[in-house]
Amino acid sequence: MQLPTIPPFKTKVVEPVYFRTREERKKKIREQHFNLFNIHSDWVIVDLMTDSGTGAMSEQQWSEIMLGDESYAGSESYFKLIRAVKDIMGFEYVAPTHQGRAAENILFSATVREGDVVPGNAHFDTTKGHIEFRKARAMDCTIKEAYDTGLYHPFKGNIDLEKLESVIKEYGKDRIPFINITVTCNTVGGQPVSLQNIRETSALAKKYGIPVYMDIARYAENAYFIKNREAAYKDWSIRDIIREMFKDADVVWMSSKKDGLVNIGGFIALNDPDLYERLGQFTIVYEGFLTYGGMSGRAMGALAVGLYEGVDFHYLQDRVHQVQYLGQKLKDYGIPIQEPVGGHALYIDAKKMLPHIPQTQYPAQLLAVEAYIEGGVRGVEIGTLLADRDPETGKDRLAEMELLRLALPRRVYSRSHMDYVAATMARVAARKEELKTGFRITKQAQILRHFTVELERI
Ligand SMILES: *Cc1c(COP(=O)(O)O)cnc(C)c1O
Repeated sequence: MQLPTIPPFKTKVVEPVYFRTREERKKKIREQHFNLFNIHSDWVIVDLMTDSGTGAMSEQQWSEIMLGDESYAGSESYFKLIRAVKDIMGFEYVAPTHQGRAAENILFSATVREGDVVPGNAHFDTTKGHIEFRKARAMDCTIKEAYDTGLYHPFKGNIDLEKLESVIKEYGKDRIPFINITVTCNTVGGQPVSLQNIRETSALAKKYGIPVYMDIARYAENAYFIKNREAAYKDWSIRDIIREMFKDADVVWMSSKKDGLVNIGGFIALNDPDLYERLGQFTIVYEGFLTYGGMSGRAMGALAVGLYEGVDFHYLQDRVHQVQYLGQKLKDYGIPIQEPVGGHALYIDAKKMLPHIPQTQYPAQLLAVEAYIEGGVRGVEIGTLLADRDPETGKDRLAEMELLRLALPRRVYSRSHMDYVAATMARVAARKEELKTGFRITKQAQILRHFTVELERI
């Protein structure tokens, strides 16, 4: 008999959860204009809104909090971070930032110009926001299999090389500051990119003299999938796979709130001293001095430790197994999900689950609201609300997929929480015929509207 995989940690500190009634939640979400970002966390029972910055730190990380060197310049905690990034990823220069989008702000301030085009696999929303904010365009070159939720493909985050080459030919090297590879690809479901695809994309980039930048928020989960699904690497260590993934990358940037296992932080890492110097001017204007960016010493120390814990095989195995466990439960209840399940979240296919709700009424948001009412489970819409409007026409861009994302915080919830979430979704599914209409927007911001949008039921 095979022993089950269990978490490579046990609980030392606990955080309370508060219970409210279904009726209380129903009233609360209406008062908050059906926007789950407006709900106070003590009104949530299982919070799967995001895996970003919501993880639990280890005792070693909390020890680093006490050891934090808060010197303005040359802090020892900064050097701990530099050493960890160099050791794990192989980059010489590191610019700390307060989180991932701050890294995007600095990096794109130095590299993206009006009229530019940035091709890549499906860009994360803040990445796209920072590109469009500079009047440039993000071009999605993900393989088409990524958009068929029921189809099995081991690496749905892969870049379609033909599509990429046609974009390069159409716009030319001078309008393409870099090719953007996101590992894992959050927007299409936390789906991994294969090493072969990274290598082929880099070769194509090199042929046209275009740099490769990688958005590496979930690079360790990506490495775990490579080990499990790409035959050539099954005997490689996670650390060796990571080095291979980054071998041809000119720049990487990270939201450390994901695989960095910390609650806040980010960085840009690279080997080019000239670009590092150019970034420095923006770091000083937007974040802080070069040796802390937007981070405290203690946060950099905790990140240096978290980077090592995040690439541990047993940790990654337990993490991915937990996502797969919830995925199997949902499937057993007949709930349509994106397959295969990705590294950090489950994606429920709202087009399939609520086929009678048109995309213009935000079916994935409807599912999110109903899951909250039913069991206090908070997920997030990844669909037309998130896709926002076309910057040229100002009209809604109907998203390729309408998904409810249930993202799992790292080292926080147990298997019984997963059972509770699956049962909540089963209860929503049982009354889907009663859900006849979705929402209309009553108020929205200029960009990244989903955070603050206000809705009413139709
Ligand atoms: C979270 C994330 C970002 C942005 O990082 P923040 O820390 O939230 O600012 C960028 N890219 C990807 C792929 C992400 O998952």
